[in-house]
Amino acid sequence: RKKLLEIRGLKTTFFTDDGQIPAVEDIDFSVHEGEILGIVGESGSGKSVTSLSIMGLIPSPPGKITGGQILLDGKNLAAFTDKQMQKIRGKDVAMIFQEPMTSLNPLFTIGDQLKEAILIHNPKWSKKEAIARAIEIMKLVGLPRAEELLKDYPHQLSGGMRQRVMIAMALVCDPKVLIADEPTTALDVTIQAQILQLMKDLNKRLNTAVLLITHDLGVVAETCERVIVMYAGQIVEEAPIHDIFTNPKHPYTQGLIKSVPDMRYKKDNLYSIPGSVPKPGFIKVGCRFASRCEFAMERCLQETPPLFEMSGQHKSRCFLVDEQEVVHHDESVIES
Ligand code: SF4
Ligand code: MG
Repeated sequence: RKKLLEIRGLKTTFFTDDGQIPAVEDIDFSVHEGEILGIVGESGSGKSVTSLSIMGLIPSPPGKITGGQILLDGKNLAAFTDKQMQKIRGKDVAMIFQEPMTSLNPLFTIGDQLKEAILIHNPKWSKKEAIARAIEIMKLVGLPRAEELLKDYPHQLSGGMRQRVMIAMALVCDPKVLIADEPTTALDVTIQAQILQLMKDLNKRLNTAVLLITHDLGVVAETCERVIVMYAGQIVEEAPIHDIFTNPKHPYTQGLIKSVPDMRYKKDNLYSIPGSVPKPGFIKVGCRFASRCEFAMERCLQETPPLFEMSGQHKSRCFLVDEQEVVHHDESVIES
């Protein structure tokens, strides 16, 4: 499938009183047409910084993209001005967040907010056309009695309905890529399943590529075709969904999988990886997972592991990858 969005060597740095802190580094991945790609990691892994970098929403100051490229249709978004990004956001790449209450304006009705989102990108449309489009898109995201809902304020809706409204807002301009950052974290389990199902349906019907950011491997398992695992500001593993669960290569991924809640075990038996994520920029050389890794060797402290590529679109940033499995290829030969 065609590459829609290609991230090459992305680095985003925060300039603080304590110095320059690289929040993400060496980020390389692509989102293909019509796919659902998951990015999974603990808080502090850099998954949100990655998505905000793509959207041009890194708060500046203190943050700034300091390296790499974000290619969309051959254009490098990393070099775009705020003004140029405003035209891309919503239209080509749209985003939904964890808590819709904070991204919806409590003072305006759902209808006003949807209408505004529609008119920003279609300034020549009449109010009537915008309302018709709003109703159409609300039906698409499974919101019943759309006409009446337009008159409601955000607080009058349930959490699940608010998230549907946010998805509707994100879809008004038919974006090529929809980035969803923890879209179901604030919702209860039943509603969470419904929202994930909706995202899958929309992905199928509209062919919108989805980049799903989550800390929850269970969510990834149910929704994604391919997964990227992030740790301490880097990608540590990338693989098709099946391979991540049956053949995880990186010790961090192996730990994550062991800590997924399993109905067969009591909660207090749940495995959790000992230790915590190192602060960004803290480890200058060596593997960032070394302090928590049961397989760490001398070498892991002295050399920084690259993201080794194996066959079957599987990559792992770990020296344990068998040298014989590593695929070497000439950059110029790789074509989408
Ligand atoms: Fe563990 Fe070394 Fe692999 Fe890092 S490179 S995950 S420390 S074995
Ligand atoms: Mg986050």
